[in-house]
Amino acid sequence: MAPLEYVRATDVDDAVATVSADPGASFLAGGTTHLDLLLKDAVISSDRLVDITRLPLRGVARAGDTLRVGALTKMEELAADTTVRERLPVVREALLAGASTQLRNMATIGGNLLQRTRCRYFRDRTVPMCNKRSPGSGCAAVTYGARMHAILGASEHCIALHASDLCVALIALDARVHIEGAARQYTIPLTELYVTPGDHPHIENVLDHGDLITRVELPLLPLGARSGYLKVRDRTSYEFALTSAAAALVIDDGTIASARLALGGVGTVPWRAREAEGVLAGAPATAEAFRAAAEAAIQNPFTVPGTAFKVELAKRTIVRILETVSGVNP
Ligand code: SF4
Repeated sequence: MAPLEYVRATDVDDAVATVSADPGASFLAGGTTHLDLLLKDAVISSDRLVDITRLPLRGVARAGDTLRVGALTKMEELAADTTVRERLPVVREALLAGASTQLRNMATIGGNLLQRTRCRYFRDRTVPMCNKRSPGSGCAAVTYGARMHAILGASEHCIALHASDLCVALIALDARVHIEGAARQYTIPLTELYVTPGDHPHIENVLDHGDLITRVELPLLPLGARSGYLKVRDRTSYEFALTSAAAALVIDDGTIASARLALGGVGTVPWRAREAEGVLAGAPATAEAFRAAAEAAIQNPFTVPGTAFKVELAKRTIVRILETVSGVNP
């Protein structure tokens, strides 16, 4: 095993400067994915871990109609927050649908946003074909078949799924992330953090090496909005989504005044279903409108043998969450 240095960052500037200056360095927070990939699966490399767990980036605070979530806040802590319970049930449901209680007490919000794919070929270094791990080597999932993979935002070079539940809810809410880097501090919509694979699957986001997510900002839903998260999976706990959907609706006298919809289990990135939102806005809250939205949400899917079932399953997931959130059942 190669030597691995451990250092503890004293503040955010120190953490960013240390990692930015060293291509072999990486941040260590909850470690629930990073240490697996580094030490057990040995599919990523780092010879210096910069521990950021003691930095003052933990906690949830309300500022007007925005919730500011420190990047080191644990998943379980955010799920238990009073404002999240009362105003953002979609976030709480997505958090509680993800991982086990033990993992949620270790895993951080920032780490959840940057979690790596669960593609089994990526995590098995005895498989030579993986464009994400070895650019130009091919894609074993496309070649040999897949099941827990993406059908939206995919390419012939990579169909790896973004497996976060939380990010689906955050994308639906127009969450923003604050990032500190060696050269700049900036805030971007979460939708702009991620990059679809195209012909460069090894590039997953817009961060520069050493950039650190320090905060996530969640706009609160309007009073009277209803929201929820539905996750469809092979077993009811400790399992990743086959499909999932996060929805938030404001319904006024039977008409959908506003709609937010995002999908999980189907995208190479957390997937905002804006076409479906356009179908729903101004429509009557009916089963017919929900099915029309589902049809609009899944357009031009990229399927391989083993993932085609997700097309109809995703549509039914959308219809079900819209029925649940609206209270309209056929
Ligand atoms: Fe690698 Fe992506 Fe193909 Fe999985 S889907 S084997 S991560 S290139």
